[in-house]
Amino acid sequence: MTGPDDSPAPGGYPVPDKRRPPSPSVLVPAPAAERTDTAAHERITALVRLVSADRLREHVTALTAFHTRHTFSPNLAAAAEWLVGRFTAAGYGDAVKVPWTRSGHTADNVVCAKPGADGAGPVVLLCAHYDCRMADLADSVSRAPGADDNASGVAAVLEIAGILREVPLRHTVRFVAFSGEEQGLWGSAAYAAQLGLAGTHVHRLINLDMIGFRPPDGSITVERDLGNAVPGNDADSQAFGEIMARAAADHTTLPVRLGPIFASDYMPFEARGHVTIGAYEGEGNPHYHETSDDAHTLDYGYLAAVTRLTLATLLMLSLDEDEDEPAPPADASR
Ligand SMILES: [Zn+2]
Repeated sequence: MTGPDDSPAPGGYPVPDKRRPPSPSVLVPAPAAERTDTAAHERITALVRLVSADRLREHVTALTAFHTRHTFSPNLAAAAEWLVGRFTAAGYGDAVKVPWTRSGHTADNVVCAKPGADGAGPVVLLCAHYDCRMADLADSVSRAPGADDNASGVAAVLEIAGILREVPLRHTVRFVAFSGEEQGLWGSAAYAAQLGLAGTHVHRLINLDMIGFRPPDGSITVERDLGNAVPGNDADSQAFGEIMARAAADHTTLPVRLGPIFASDYMPFEARGHVTIGAYEGEGNPHYHETSDDAHTLDYGYLAAVTRLTLATLLMLSLDEDEDEPAPPADASR
């Protein structure tokens, strides 16, 4: 018997092209203000302020120092080792390479987890691909820094993991860096299948792909699931996207566009029915898949803002507010 959780990975995805969304994004007004005098809001504000543009720049600079991170390049294994080292240094001794094989190629996803109060309950995934490419997808030897696509997303995942290390959360959060994205979501499709076989319940997923090149209007596009393989998860994705839009309004000055999920690593999870969203700067980076996509082209203030709103989204979803209650004073008489 084959159920939705042990079915094989959905067959091939096209080579992703982030310049061709299935529908345009739309600028939306900021959501109406809500109460901000709660302990949870104050806690989230304090944590979001810890995001460092300098650390993000340092992560991006280190990742772009690899000559290329093309999935078929020998450098990819070194980049995976570097990621394990960075997660370990951030306090994640469980950081591990999780291999996948496809079309004769074997590579690693890199995974670590921040345990939540729910223990073995549903997990939240925060993911970004660490591989990159040149204009010619078959070119695994030319210089390809892949700063915006997608050292920017990986840097944000590393920064958020570091900040969340000691923060009590309801859900377990898994941080995942995928390879094989540029070939057609190979690493994420394999990992989604592996989670299915393991019976892991994915509660929500946030994907970060290209979040460091500031668009002309300074906006962030919140990507939500509009149809795709499974219609039943769309409403929850759109509600989750509203949380991200609120996080942007509460914790950054970035205008918000709403757009569709497309051409990145959330798609194999969406196809398994999971609830996914993404953050994306939008089409228009002239350095896309070129040697010129280097660390100097990024706006680290913008990258820090997107990292802040992503962290705030995770905290609005999963902050363990019981742990957040201040202890009553010992001499309280009421
Ligand atoms: Zn990408």
